[in-house]
Amino acid sequence: MSRILLLGGIGEALNLARRLGSQHIYSLAGLGKVPEDLACQVRVGGFGGAEGLADFIHRERIELLVDATHPYAAQISHNAARAAEQAGVPCWALRRPGWTASPGDDWREVFDWPSLITALGDFQRPLFTLGREPLEHLHEIPAHQHWTVRCLQSQPASERAEVIGARGPFSLEGERALFERLNCDVLVSKNSGSAATEHKLQVAHERGVPVLVLQRPVLPVVDREFAEPEALWQALWQALHESGVTNP
Ligand code: NAP
Repeated sequence: MSRILLLGGIGEALNLARRLGSQHIYSLAGLGKVPEDLACQVRVGGFGGAEGLADFIHRERIELLVDATHPYAAQISHNAARAAEQAGVPCWALRRPGWTASPGDDWREVFDWPSLITALGDFQRPLFTLGREPLEHLHEIPAHQHWTVRCLQSQPASERAEVIGARGPFSLEGERALFERLNCDVLVSKNSGSAATEHKLQVAHERGVPVLVLQRPVLPVVDREFAEPEALWQALWQALHESGVTNP
């Protein structure tokens, strides 16, 4: 096993990619920054579904597929599992554990956009921190609400909504200042489990602000799953060395 295709898009994946040698490929969807200082090869953009990914694996003689995408990026994870099976290579995955509520937290799970809107009900100043999806619904904001949407791309504020373009990590002090300025009465979040974005939950706790948590998608079972990037790296290192690769 000497050539890896690493599917990324989160910080942990980039850290793994930084440790890979020039024979390996790091793949990004192309929504965020593309690193230019990696030793490994970097490719950007979709493969064209599971079939396209399986073709890519064949064409590039990939011997191990590693899915280190975001826990809510379910499509690419399902494609990865299918493509690896079709191409006859193993698929390993980084499956970052979710956050868990502490005593005193008021977390309410929602399943999709309609159930989220229902749960938002009587709240007035929601802070959305689950990506771009709320931007498609800015014209549906109920009369009693003002939304703040924090996502990667900013756009001009309107009377009914403010869109903050920002990329984590977010500090505890910064989150406290944001909640204070917005006076938000509910936080809307994915359960990404990332240390880079978890301070908002502490601030919600401190201020007694409820959190609407979008349920995690179901991800496919793969050959090996790792909760920690370091454990994944150790397994990669070992597999590469067993194949006689001296420079991973
Ligand atoms: P998604 O719905 O699971 O995937 C949509 C399509 O994007 C896939 O079918 C695939 O296109 C392409 N794609 C996704 N990741 C790719 C990768 N690493 N390399 C090449 N193509 C990829 O994903 P998403 O939720 O839109 O997220 C897109 C990317 O942003 C992911 O890489 C993810 O790790 C990252 N990200 C997502 C979130 C989130 O909340 N969803 C948060 C932070 C980062 P084809 O079918 O054409 O191959």
